[in-house]
Amino acid sequence: MDKPGIVVAGASGRMGQMLIRLITASDQARLVGAVDRAGGPWIGQDVGVAMGGAPLGVTVTDDAIEAIAGAQALIDFTTPAATVAYAELTAQARAVHVIGTTGLSDEDLTYIAAAARHAPIIRAGNMSLGVNLLVGLTRKVAAALGEDWDIEVVEAHHRHKVDAPSGTALMLGEAAAEGRGETLADLRTPAREGITGARERGSIGFSAIRGGDVVGEHDVIFAADGERVVLRHLANDRAIFARGALRAALWGQDKGPGEYDMADVLGLD
Ligand code: NAD
Repeated sequence: MDKPGIVVAGASGRMGQMLIRLITASDQARLVGAVDRAGGPWIGQDVGVAMGGAPLGVTVTDDAIEAIAGAQALIDFTTPAATVAYAELTAQARAVHVIGTTGLSDEDLTYIAAAARHAPIIRAGNMSLGVNLLVGLTRKVAAALGEDWDIEVVEAHHRHKVDAPSGTALMLGEAAAEGRGETLADLRTPAREGITGARERGSIGFSAIRGGDVVGEHDVIFAADGERVVLRHLANDRAIFARGALRAALWGQDKGPGEYDMADVLGLD
């Protein structure tokens, strides 16, 4: 069988460029398209040249319909509005849609769920193996430790990140809530500032640090009287997210329509 043809959305972005390098170096997939926003600086240029290297024979376009037609997968690390629009196009093309974009609203997620009735969608706030293991550990530790242990998720990211808490922090918070047999919507503490009052028993809090070029750091803190357990993941290189996304695009090739996550791709429970 031919290697699956993959289109990268947000080609000029930090993750987009990482993915283009990974796919062109891979012997399991072909780069067949590069999409970016209308008016973006790379539109009309060969994507390899735009990245400062040799031509790759793929021109960056804002015409996503044409780019996706005939492709087997779209890997998308862009913005919520773009991701919702791409979900409709990949559904029409019956192509796998791998979504790394974070900051999606509940309304965005309903559009994505509708698109997943026609084609496989694999979405994760974090595509790395280590973080997805951490999600499972967080669920287990939260289940083992009772409400005497306060749960806080602390994350740090580079200065360009536009949403907070990170998609990964929310995944970890959701896993902690699930471990306690609840949902994050019921346990989440609003951002703290000023006179907040004492911490509510059983709640899950979030803190976000933004600065420099930090790729991504997440601590899940379980704090009781006299002791703390801290589960930590440190990302040193964005390539971990790109590798996970490509693995998801390949995994999705023989899957039916539906919504999947990295636990499905990695075979983790
Ligand atoms: P970035 O700002 O470097 O890149 C975003 C790209 O999207 C750019 O190429 C931009 O031109 C493009 N874009 C913006 N609006 C668009 C539109 N309307 N249509 C098409 N393209 C559009 O950002 P980044 O660091 O690459 O991150 C992108 C997203 O991926 C963010 O939501 C980030 O939080 C998320 N992210 C997720 C993971 C994960 O593992 N799931 C890892 C890293 C980043």
